[in-house]
Amino acid sequence: MFNKLRRQILFFKFHVLHLRGVTAIKKWQTGRLRRLIPMIASHIPLYAELLKKADIRPAEIRTLADLKKLPVTSKAIFLNKPVREYTNRSRSLRGRWAQTSGSSGAPFNPLRRRHVRLPWYGDSLHYRFLFWDKPWVVRAQGMRIAHIRVLPNNKLNHLVVPVTDFLNDTARAVQCIIDFGPHIIESHASILFELATYVHKHGLVLSPRYVVSVSENLSPATRAVVQEALHCPIYNRYGLEEFGTVGVECAQHNGFHVNCESFVVEILDDKGTPCSDGVFGRVIVTDLYNDEMPFVRYDTGDCGKISWTQCACGLYAPRIWIEGRYGAFLTLGGKRYHHFEFDAALDSFMDKIISYQVVKLTETNICVRVLPGPAYHTSDGPDIVKRVQARIGENIAVSVQCVTSIPRVPQGKSQIIKDESVSAL
Ligand SMILES: [Zn+2]
Repeated sequence: MFNKLRRQILFFKFHVLHLRGVTAIKKWQTGRLRRLIPMIASHIPLYAELLKKADIRPAEIRTLADLKKLPVTSKAIFLNKPVREYTNRSRSLRGRWAQTSGSSGAPFNPLRRRHVRLPWYGDSLHYRFLFWDKPWVVRAQGMRIAHIRVLPNNKLNHLVVPVTDFLNDTARAVQCIIDFGPHIIESHASILFELATYVHKHGLVLSPRYVVSVSENLSPATRAVVQEALHCPIYNRYGLEEFGTVGVECAQHNGFHVNCESFVVEILDDKGTPCSDGVFGRVIVTDLYNDEMPFVRYDTGDCGKISWTQCACGLYAPRIWIEGRYGAFLTLGGKRYHHFEFDAALDSFMDKIISYQVVKLTETNICVRVLPGPAYHTSDGPDIVKRVQARIGENIAVSVQCVTSIPRVPQGKSQIIKDESVSAL
């Protein structure tokens, strides 16, 4: 009885931290850090070795500012190492092994922290926007949630439609969702777009209270189409397989509020120096709760910025904005062009474009495949060519092709950068 009450109080403190001020948030994070660092030094051989090499004693890491003394880690340091090197063998492992999409390189299986699967904690992290004005509600209780996703899960009150079923027989999948009558529909942005256009085209009635977009860039054009067809707001969520949900939008839809009770997010420049508030750099995340396979100062491969300025919604929890992955790039004429450079070129067209894919056809020839939105006009094609050309120079020929769909990688996400020059040889 006493233990149950204690657990509930601990959870409630966790759940409402993002409603508190900056001082309370930083105090909480410091407390978790002081617990995390001695643990990784004693129980995780990989981190013990890293600390030793950097000549750092765990006792030196006392504040959030001390965190920057620790080396930055990445997927590369985990790959090809035995699992016992980076997992905590002082206890039995109860987390869930996840598989990343591999869109930024080699596949990698992280062990997700266990408490994400606990209903209270999971709901608090994934559907936080539901609770910000009602912190006494601690679960998405009674909410029927429909997911269109790759991997199945069997939770009470949840409907899971596999992405392949949705794509192979959209009519049946949509009817199944309508019959379920979901309060929340959750999927990748490109799948939500297809759902919305199907519903609109066939004059169907599907009115969830909220739509949640996960694990793909959500363009303003996609947001507009989905909101109009499904008559409800769309909340974008930022997460990675290594961490689960790192941040969620509030009703202002201006950046992701970091789940700051669980994660410390830093932005670093190319030299590893912390960037000022609002300056883009590499997104580095420390998970304060994964005791089984800890991720400390983990380079996500994403490019983003952070701000601790109070949001118009009233929250002090920091917000992050994500621009794109550092890992996704094309090599043209011996020079490397990152995905976010193409993002920058296409940025001003994103109210007209649902999604796009930059395809390398030969060493001197690329094609921008565009999935046009309702506001797109054929005269936008030459303007896109001009913008892209301004980034990559006149030596590379650029063409624009309107398509009806963008192919997906196995995890169901659209692929933004593609090299077809190898298969053309
Ligand atoms: Zn906000």
